[in-house]
Amino acid sequence: MSLLGLGAMGHALAAALIDAGHPTTIWNRTPGKADALVARGAKLASTVRDAVSVSPLVVTCLLDHGSVQETLGPVADVMAHRSLVNLTTTTPNQAREFASWADDHDVAYLDGGIMAVPAMIGGPGSAILYSGSSTVFGDHKPVLDLWGESTYFGPDAGMASLYDLAMLASMYVMFGGFMQGAAMVGAAGVTATEFASRTTPFLAAMTAGFSGFAAIIDAKNYTGEGQQSLEFSDLGKIVQTSIDQGVSPDIIAPVQALIRRQIAAGHGKEGFSRIFEELRAGKKGT
Ligand code: NDP
Repeated sequence: MSLLGLGAMGHALAAALIDAGHPTTIWNRTPGKADALVARGAKLASTVRDAVSVSPLVVTCLLDHGSVQETLGPVADVMAHRSLVNLTTTTPNQAREFASWADDHDVAYLDGGIMAVPAMIGGPGSAILYSGSSTVFGDHKPVLDLWGESTYFGPDAGMASLYDLAMLASMYVMFGGFMQGAAMVGAAGVTATEFASRTTPFLAAMTAGFSGFAAIIDAKNYTGEGQQSLEFSDLGKIVQTSIDQGVSPDIIAPVQALIRRQIAAGHGKEGFSRIFEELRAGKKGT
């Protein structure tokens, strides 16, 4: 395999391949980042063209969509009849654009979304989501599995990245929620460290609620028994306490706005998970 990009993630991917004894050629735009990997057994290519031309499988892990375009555009001729796995984070439409570029140049394209940090690669909990060419996925799965659990999400090249970004959306809003709470108690002199020690087990327990919300959303059963109503979940006391503490409610207030729009639309007695419908309606808040 030839791996293009030796940033924090590319380095970890290369190291896992080398440790498994997989023949690996590496390239990086800025020289000097490959020394440790070469010492462990990787072959260094001095140009992208050299790197691409020695392997049937090329993997990119670069900064963004533009950097992959800049790197592979000039070597499209040597990419022909090879397989490309792009692990660079892109939007779904950018992934589809690569798939179309690959199709035009006789390249088999598989897009990947890495659900791990570099230290996790090759270890427990590391997962990579793939979509695009099922042939590339099937043919190379044993190698892809060296990095983490590999899952295929179908031929639409944008699907892996859609899952990736949707999971990251959940993560960042949860992290933002932690910051909101830490700022609220922080205004009373509580350290963020103390707050984290209380909040971590609480949030871990609360994630068990996702499956219940999911069942309600999938069945559109917002009036079923046992749901906390939108009126009950108004979040007014949380927003007010933030303000009283001199803390901006900017993280929690948009959730309240979604609830209030659903209440205004006449759904106040229905369950909290109905804010999913407000999001799906795609309306912007006022
Ligand atoms: P780094 O910033 O550590 O590395 C970026 C890499 O991209 C370097 O090899 C850099 O080369 C290269 N690069 C940047 N611009 C260009 C360009 N115009 N032409 C050629 N090469 C270029 O990022 P990471 O390694 O952390 O991330 C790489 C990808 O992996 C990203 O898309 C990221 O979203 C994704 N990812 C990263 C995770 C992480 O925790 N780090 C987690 C999940 C996904 P140079 O050395 O020359 O600057």
